Amino acid sequence: MSAAKLRKKQREGARVNFVVPPPAIFGYCVSISERRFALCLMMRRNAATTKMRVIIMDGMKLTASCLGSPLFIARVTLLVAAGWIMQPAVAQLAPPPAVMVDDPIPHRTEGAGPFKRLILRGAYMIDGSGAPARGPIDLVVEGDRIKEIKLVGAPGRIEANLRPEKGDHEIDMSGYYIMPGFINTHVHTFSLNHLQKTPTDYILKLWLINGITSVRDLGQTFHQPDWLLDIKRRSERNEIAAPRIDVYPFFANTPHPFSTVEQAKARIRDFKKQGVDGVKFLGTPTNLTVAGIEEARRVGLRTTIHNDQLQVSEGNIVFLAEHGLQGMEHWYGLPESMFEDRSIQHYSNNYIYDDEQDRFGEAGTLWAQAAPPGSKKWEEVMDALLKRQFIITPTFVPYLASRDLWRVIRAPWQDEYTLPALWDYWRPNPLNHGSFWFDWTTEREMAWRENYRIWMQFINEYKNRGGLVTAGDDAGFLYNLPGFGFTQELELLREAGFTPLEVIRAATQSGARALGHDDQVGVLKLGMKADIIAVRGNPLANLKLLYPTGTIRFNPQTQHTERVGGIDYIIKDGIVYDGQQLRDEVKAMVAKQKAERHIGPGVMPVAQQ
Ligand SMILES: [Zn+2]
Repeated sequence: MSAAKLRKKQREGARVNFVVPPPAIFGYCVSISERRFALCLMMRRNAATTKMRVIIMDGMKLTASCLGSPLFIARVTLLVAAGWIMQPAVAQLAPPPAVMVDDPIPHRTEGAGPFKRLILRGAYMIDGSGAPARGPIDLVVEGDRIKEIKLVGAPGRIEANLRPEKGDHEIDMSGYYIMPGFINTHVHTFSLNHLQKTPTDYILKLWLINGITSVRDLGQTFHQPDWLLDIKRRSERNEIAAPRIDVYPFFANTPHPFSTVEQAKARIRDFKKQGVDGVKFLGTPTNLTVAGIEEARRVGLRTTIHNDQLQVSEGNIVFLAEHGLQGMEHWYGLPESMFEDRSIQHYSNNYIYDDEQDRFGEAGTLWAQAAPPGSKKWEEVMDALLKRQFIITPTFVPYLASRDLWRVIRAPWQDEYTLPALWDYWRPNPLNHGSFWFDWTTEREMAWRENYRIWMQFINEYKNRGGLVTAGDDAGFLYNLPGFGFTQELELLREAGFTPLEVIRAATQSGARALGHDDQVGVLKLGMKADIIAVRGNPLANLKLLYPTGTIRFNPQTQHTERVGGIDYIIKDGIVYDGQQLRDEVKAMVAKQKAERHIGPGVMPVAQQ
């Protein structure tokens, strides 16, 4: 492969892989872009042991001086030459490679800027800190940073002499509310190689159109962290239209299963070396989880857990928090920490965990099994977590279909924004995670409503007493569409008792704090990154304005009902994206796949045809 071709492939976001069969010596991949040179050497002894070495020179131009190191030149020459020599011979020996679908993320064509001096003129501002809306404001961005925030009058009255001097790009924001870009603290970045078979580009853009400029990815079962770290870096360089990405791989997702405390610790150190931001625990024996948590703390990696039912009887949330765990996802482990008249969740006798209708159906009775709100036990658990400044990402939204199946299936965005491939995955299927609607009944939904009521009370009280609660949608399963799930999550936090300002704070400043990025993003103030979203109308009065599908409003002048809302501007690193353009792109992806499958536009069939 020629160097030019190699560079082209890299621009398209593809890795160049030469995988060789056992007992061959190695394959390698080279990755070159304008500001990065990476060489990855794979040594394969047999099918079970593949070793990988990666050399990455990041964030610098490939200059004569960095190429000038004789050692580096020698290493690169040797490896590349060896790879080239090996490749033809290897190709003849090679069995058909594992089927990996190419899923390139296109080079960014959307967005304008960053600008020398961008001015958002005359907006109302919700800064994300909990402060009330202010305005009219002129907000000045220089490059990727907020340079000035200037009050330029009073509502309905702008004083021209107060306005900052002209910029090289200006946007009239009268009638708009601006906020920090949202931070979605629980996502999974899917690709065509995941079971849902959605292009990564589709997922990234679903996030952006919902105003999400930062995400925390909590694990991949298909890819190892290097895949997502690569996307993260391309997003950092704004080569692709994507939010910022924090990478928290699954602790147990490794080709080399581990069983000892020493191996668990080594796994954490390996993550640290790879450059991840944190670790998500799920499904490992409690002694290994504790070892992992302690080691992560030692090496400086953040931690969170999905405290699943297979492990929780050995270590609930309070126990793990006492061992240094920083945060939790969902809610599993919380009611279990508050059991008084039992030590294990009550399961029906024929319950099988791997029958997901059993799992999710009976989970819907779990809060009712715990000590009631306000009881001594309830207070003790709340206090223990508050004392440790424990972070909770409740992810209310994935369970929404459990209490309201039809409402979720027929949500307005499912028609134009949901790929048919997702419907394939979501329709009831015992083998697909979260597709457990085998015979979902009113009785199940009633149990779930009660479950939500107590759960929401806990979360709202936790927030009221100073606890950090963030917004995350954990979408991709259970008819929960990425990005749209996040906007629904905001409405669910509102339902839990958060005021609209508390909802926005959970989605911005609290998320930034949970990720440890609150000195960069999450609040609109001087010196922060220019991650800003703008919506016409007041989202505090109606969160529904934030949906890309907007909401409906009757217009007395025309006597017609109109669609209003949708985030019009999404700014990340000072680059201004046109919300409408991104929405059209996502809709076009969906329309294309529907056309390919000869499915008409509009509502998708719920059952197999
Ligand atoms: Zn998840």
